[in-house]
Amino acid sequence: MSPHVASEPPASAVREKPRFSRELEERFIRYARIDTQSNEKSTTSPSTEKQYDLLRLLVSELRSIGAQDVKLTEYGAVLATIPATTNTDAAAVALLAHVDTAPQFSSAGVKPIVHRNYSGGEIVLPDDRAIVLSPANLPYLARKVGEDIITASGTTLLGADDKAGVAIVMTVARHLLQNVDLQHGPIRICFTPDEEIGRGVHDNLPKDLSADVAYTLDGAELGEIVYETFSADKADVYVQGVSIHPGQAKDKLVNALHLAAKIIDTLPQVTLTPETTTDRDGFIHIYEMSGTAAAAHLHFILRDFELDRLREHGALLRQVCSTAQVTEPRALITCTITQQYRNMRYWLEKDMRPVELARQACRSLGIEPNSPPTRGGTDGSRLTERGVPTPNLFTGMQNIHGPHEWVSVQDMGRATEMCIALLQLWSTSKGTSEIKRNGDAGLAQEDFVDWAG
Ligand SMILES: [Zn+2]
Repeated sequence: MSPHVASEPPASAVREKPRFSRELEERFIRYARIDTQSNEKSTTSPSTEKQYDLLRLLVSELRSIGAQDVKLTEYGAVLATIPATTNTDAAAVALLAHVDTAPQFSSAGVKPIVHRNYSGGEIVLPDDRAIVLSPANLPYLARKVGEDIITASGTTLLGADDKAGVAIVMTVARHLLQNVDLQHGPIRICFTPDEEIGRGVHDNLPKDLSADVAYTLDGAELGEIVYETFSADKADVYVQGVSIHPGQAKDKLVNALHLAAKIIDTLPQVTLTPETTTDRDGFIHIYEMSGTAAAAHLHFILRDFELDRLREHGALLRQVCSTAQVTEPRALITCTITQQYRNMRYWLEKDMRPVELARQACRSLGIEPNSPPTRGGTDGSRLTERGVPTPNLFTGMQNIHGPHEWVSVQDMGRATEMCIALLQLWSTSKGTSEIKRNGDAGLAQEDFVDWAG
């Protein structure tokens, strides 16, 4: 999976490159300086008030470039329309990016630095000189000699995830609105909050988006077109013990913490965990545990690309819980498994045009497309299962969620070119009647309801 750029890109790409590069760099730096960190402990939507700082800015910028129906929903999504220049019956295509940055690392006071015409050496970040980006251990960076690399300054993340996507979508929108001779159908623009905490797709978004097909600009390496994500469940295991004063506990106390430890210890540890699996293998991951001798709560996530294997992981966890229950009938152990999201491949493989057209758009620019499976979910996972097929496209972002994050301006430029080519390819489609909303994708009902036991 090593994407490459053909040595001679088409003339149009060369001609457009400088103009988009300047705009992308300027937009990216302005957006990256705005702190938009989301917070998973918050119960509000959006999870943090500060995400409005960028959401409101995008509303006013969309209005000023002439977008129509510009709206900020009560759940914090920005929506807008770019009217069709031809064939109003063509499929309505949405471009999405998320404004929030990951809660895992500081995002206050981001100082983006442009390393222009990158020479191929080490990049030392000025605010923490221990943070070094070295082409020796970053092979993708080694391929970016001569490009303009943007990093943070050493004390924060950069937020290329997903300000790169935001800058690309805004640049595409501005370009199309200024060049009405470019043929395209109806286009919807959408910026979401809270993607990083898994809450980017509000229940109303699929309807409010009113698109037949969508793309998230939230991918990494040049040429990436992702249409396979994990399928995901979470599991809550509750252990109710019997609580007695330890002084009178003989033959009476049933310690919930001992039982919880037994459950964890009985689960596989050298296989089926995130730290022992890669590629297409799934896992059972305990990520939080709390409790007392009286009662304990264990939080698990279950992940796999295949639903039958995901069900096996759930069955294994249940089996371990019931075994612990049998050894101690005085305790009460329950295991509740709840669906989170599903592999978008189940829907997209029924109609691969959203992927095929994106591949065609890449190839038209001399970029070789590739489709690695993503060991996680995207906003597109939820949108796809709600009827809007939504593959994820590259932006160039690298080493996300930490101080080593970086992005190439030229990669953002190629993503911008690719989106423009893609939207033109969709202009000859026949719209909603042609795009099959794939309903249940042939999945069993039990894959969609919360199943508890
Ligand atoms: Zn992202």
